[in-house]
Amino acid sequence: MDVVSLRRFFHQHAEVGFTEFLTTSKIIDVLRSLDYKVIYGKDIMEAEKRRGMPSEWQIEQAYCRAATADWIEPSVLEAMKGGYTGVVGILEGTCPGPIVAFRFDIDALPVKESEDPDHLPQTLGFRSVHEGNMHACGHDAHVAIGLSFAERMASRNFCGVLKLIFQPAEEGVRGAYPMVAKGILDDVDKLFCLHLGLGAPLGYVYGGSANWLNVTKYSAQYYGIAAHSGQSPELGRNSLLGAATSLLNIHAISRFGSSDTRINVGLMEGGTAANIVPSYAKMLLETRASSEEVNRELERRVRNILKHSADMHDLNCEIEIMGRAFSIQCDEELVRLVMETARDIAGVNYVHDFYQASAAEDACYMTEHVQKRGGQATYMIIGTDIAAAHHNERFDIDEAALPIAVDLLSQVAARTLTERC
Ligand SMILES: [Zn+2]
Ligand SMILES: [Zn+2]
Repeated sequence: MDVVSLRRFFHQHAEVGFTEFLTTSKIIDVLRSLDYKVIYGKDIMEAEKRRGMPSEWQIEQAYCRAATADWIEPSVLEAMKGGYTGVVGILEGTCPGPIVAFRFDIDALPVKESEDPDHLPQTLGFRSVHEGNMHACGHDAHVAIGLSFAERMASRNFCGVLKLIFQPAEEGVRGAYPMVAKGILDDVDKLFCLHLGLGAPLGYVYGGSANWLNVTKYSAQYYGIAAHSGQSPELGRNSLLGAATSLLNIHAISRFGSSDTRINVGLMEGGTAANIVPSYAKMLLETRASSEEVNRELERRVRNILKHSADMHDLNCEIEIMGRAFSIQCDEELVRLVMETARDIAGVNYVHDFYQASAAEDACYMTEHVQKRGGQATYMIIGTDIAAAHHNERFDIDEAALPIAVDLLSQVAARTLTERC
């Protein structure tokens, strides 16, 4: 199984969070062909703990799209109906030992991929065929690495149990929590998570990471009253004005001397026509902070602004939290283990301890859960040169990072899946 071809397959079939039907089906196929036990559907996800779900229409659309692929077994797809995507592969070694898990996120982003002739996926013919969905963060590579790594381990030449967690909906920090709630991480002794790139060039490996930001994702909806904008505008209540007022004021929240912070209103939409006072508006936004306390304070201020902007314009406002994540604490012992292993991997030139993340990741729910139960966890970064920033429509990785990552994970697994002393 060629890791580059796998990556290109997943890149070409990009699916956003909780709609990864085709992606999950392919992962299940490969894992089954390698004799892994696979669990998926409602067996890996607590239904009520899912947050920030796409609309039923979006889920159905993606489901029907996947159903047209004749290689997918209908019963597999059926088990995922309603957005129960993702899969866990389990392989038992030939002797008793620890349970070691590796986590790979599998979702794409709602980005329309570039058609520029110098964008390599376009030139080489593996641009996303799902218009408006794009692997602009490198999770296509994560899946491919996970499957090639699965193949390397398939000989079962180890002690203990290998657990491969293919997690949906990382973007928006949504998919990890329902998997944790279902108990997927309950028996894990050691957990390794990873990300490619994030500013680390090809040849770099960080054994761990720090300075992850706390993040809160919100959806805000304004409800007003529609009216004729010429004849009787005074009878209307303009929802877009409420949204616009709050957008400017949310971005005007003060910076904090005590913490790094970020604020972004990433979407604002509403209204239907030029001659109708808009009765509905929607916003998607987020706050981030290095301090949990400061992020809570940002949350309080955002709610205040959303509510008072609604009051100013006589509107109703509904606020929903779509996702939350907190900082990840890596265990030094695992960070050192990854560093020592990385030094012997061909293609790795620089090995460091802690990558300063300044981003957010819902792997935090998994790492914290494992650590609270006495296990250890780390979140490593594997370098790759990138063509444009993460989440940009021209994002692309250097595929030379893929075999490096597979070698690294295989060696990390060999060092950890050993007899208990
Ligand atoms: Zn991302
Ligand atoms: Zn990512």
